[in-house]
Amino acid sequence: MLALSPRLFLSSVLLAILLFAFWRPADSAIGPVAEPVSVAISDKRIAFSFDDAPRGAGAFLEPDERPKLLIEALKTAGIEQAVFFINPGRITAHDNDAADIAAYANAGHLLANHTAGHSKLSSVPTATFLADIDAAEAWLKDKPNYRPWFRFPFLDEGRTNRAKRDAVRAGLKQRGLMNGYVTVDASDWYLEDMAITAARAGKLMDWNALRDLFVESYVESAEFSDDLARRTLGRAPVQMILLHETDLAAMFVDDLAAALKKRGWTIVSADEAYRDPIAHMEPDVDFADGTRTQMLAAERKIGNRWYERNDQKLAKKLFAERVLRD
Ligand SMILES: [Zn+2]
Repeated sequence: MLALSPRLFLSSVLLAILLFAFWRPADSAIGPVAEPVSVAISDKRIAFSFDDAPRGAGAFLEPDERPKLLIEALKTAGIEQAVFFINPGRITAHDNDAADIAAYANAGHLLANHTAGHSKLSSVPTATFLADIDAAEAWLKDKPNYRPWFRFPFLDEGRTNRAKRDAVRAGLKQRGLMNGYVTVDASDWYLEDMAITAARAGKLMDWNALRDLFVESYVESAEFSDDLARRTLGRAPVQMILLHETDLAAMFVDDLAAALKKRGWTIVSADEAYRDPIAHMEPDVDFADGTRTQMLAAERKIGNRWYERNDQKLAKKLFAERVLRD
C-alpha cells in the first residue's frame, strides 16, 4: 500500500470529496425515482394574468420590444392562454401599442377591461369610475379574444366605502361584466420600479439574483394563497396570478412557470380559472382590497390575510440585499 504523508492524504480526501460533489450517476444507474403522491395527483392549478397593457418604458427593454419577448416567453413557458387587462386610454400612436395588444390576442391570449385610464375607485366618484370602465369597454368589446371581465386597478374595490363598493358591483352586473379577481400577487410592478430607479442611478444589479427574487416571491405567494384557500374553503380553487406588463415579467415568466411546475402546479387557461365557483363569490369585508383569497379568508376570519412580500418595506430590503448587494 502506498504510504501517504498527512498533507498528501488530506489532499486526496479533498479531491475525493470534490469529485463526489461533481459526480452524478446516470439516471439508469439509480432506477426510477418515485414522485411523492401529492405531486402526481396535485390539484394545484394556476392561470396567468397581466395588467396595465400598454405600460410604457420599463427598466431594461424598449416599450415595443417587451410585448414580443413576453409572447415568446409565454410560448416557451407553455402558457397557452393568459389574460391581459388593458388600459385603452394609455394607447399611444408612437409605440405600436394597438398592434402589440392585437398581437397578444393573435397569440391566443385574452383581452379584458382594466378601465381606460387606470382609475382608483377609492379616489374618484363612482360615476367617474363607471365612465372609465365604459370608455375601456367601447374600445375592447369588438376585439378578437375579448372577455367581459373587469380587473380593479390597484385591486381597490372601494376599500372602507361599502356604498361605493356595492354601487360598482351593481354597475358591473348591469354591464354584464365579471370581477376579474386575482388570488396570487407579489408586486412585480414594485420590483420593476426599484429596478428602474437602480438603472437610472447607474447601479449594478445582479441579474440572476433579480430573477431568483422574482420567481421565489411569486412561487411563495402561490403557496400562501393555496394554503389560505384550503383553510378557508376546504378545497383548492384555481389560482389566478397577477403580473403586469413589466420587463421583469417578460424576462422571467418562463422561469416562474418552470418553478411552479416543479412545485406541483399545473398551468391552466384563464377561461378555466374563471370557471371556478369562487368567481361568483362577493366577500363582505371591512377593507375591500387585495386578492379574492385574502378577502374570503378575512370574511371568515381565517389566518393572516396579507402576503408579506407585498409589504414594500420588506420588498425593498430584499431587493437591496440580494439584487444590489447594498
Ligand atoms: Zn393596473
